[in-house]
Amino acid sequence: MSKKYNISVIPGDGIGPEVTSAAIKVLETAASKREIEIYTKELLAGGAAIDKYGIPLPQETIYGCKDSDAVLLGAVGGPKWDNVEPDKRPEKALLGLRSGLDLYANIRPVVLHEGLEAASPLKNPGKVDLVIIRELTGGIYFGKTGFYQSGDKLSDGTVKGKIGFDTESYSEGEINRILKIGFGFAMKRRKKLTLVDKANVLVTSRMWRTLATQMSFDYPEVELDFLYVDNASMQLINRPSSFDVIVTSNLFGDILSDEAGQIVGSIGMLPSASVGVIGKPGMFEPIHGSAPDIAGQNKANPLGTILSCAMMMRTVLGEEEVADDIENAVKKTLAQGYRTGDITFVGDNNNTKLVGTVEMTQAVIDNL
Ligand code: NAD
Repeated sequence: MSKKYNISVIPGDGIGPEVTSAAIKVLETAASKREIEIYTKELLAGGAAIDKYGIPLPQETIYGCKDSDAVLLGAVGGPKWDNVEPDKRPEKALLGLRSGLDLYANIRPVVLHEGLEAASPLKNPGKVDLVIIRELTGGIYFGKTGFYQSGDKLSDGTVKGKIGFDTESYSEGEINRILKIGFGFAMKRRKKLTLVDKANVLVTSRMWRTLATQMSFDYPEVELDFLYVDNASMQLINRPSSFDVIVTSNLFGDILSDEAGQIVGSIGMLPSASVGVIGKPGMFEPIHGSAPDIAGQNKANPLGTILSCAMMMRTVLGEEEVADDIENAVKKTLAQGYRTGDITFVGDNNNTKLVGTVEMTQAVIDNL
């Protein structure tokens, strides 16, 4: 074996341990076929860390992640920890990992796999294959926030009273670095980049437009267009197959990526990558949560996590062949009719086989 990679695995809670162990088995098999060794170490975050250490993100997890080539995360959270103090909630681990690892770009491919058309809520979705690139560490989720009192009155005489505020702010540097990732993706794909913003109202959005236009001169082959976020949310449903790469701010990306995810059926199918500074580890995770309703029952769809491993291989480790092998094995497995419960729909053809997490994983491994 010539190459070795160290992967930190954070199984997390609920179905997290089931889908991460499934994905690691697939990754190890795919990598070994290409003479690559995968070393894994398990780290705690979320509810599992609260149970052991009383906090959702121990320092040793951050250090462990920083010391690896990439991180695979299952999901965190669940009803068991719903009543812990707000700053100790399992989900705090996600924000801590993103900022601790400086992961400023969230990349979410949205692909409607052949054979899963019946899983889409759209009548005629067409061939959906797009990527949403969301800025992850700036904007309104990280801006100045607070409350103050005001004795001023509204037009009808009502006293304003308590006023809450959140602030959207972006620096040129933050916008340029995420735009660069967007143009880079567009160059490797169908060379179309859509900037989603609210430039008719927001100063920050107008900055995004100006900087995107300036950067487009460096990428003459990429067709750049702009959509207001309200229109984008309609067009994603109206003509999803016309999108290639979408780049947008933290808030708009949060909302649109869930909408786009739904267009292709189950959230169990969707991978994601969070990346930042070149040379530092990225974090890869399915977009779903810990699904406590099906945890421990061999019902979880592992494909979103398996496809996250393919993204890991392609995006930060440069192992295109391993990524292709995993993605092709998933396609073949779906074509053979293997379906977990979440992707079993009326309208599927007759050759579908309802299977659990373990059987789905084995089918992917057999197809590698
Ligand atoms: P969820 O994504 O866990 O589940 C929503 C629905 O989708 C459930 O019916 C579930 O059974 C189903 N589902 C999810 N993943 C599936 C899979 N792989 N295969 C088959 N079905 C799947 O969202 P939720 O119920 O809103 O949240 C549950 C917990 O997860 C909460 O504590 C929430 O805070 C947490 N959460 C964590 C993350 C994360 O770690 N990134 C993301 C979202 C939610």
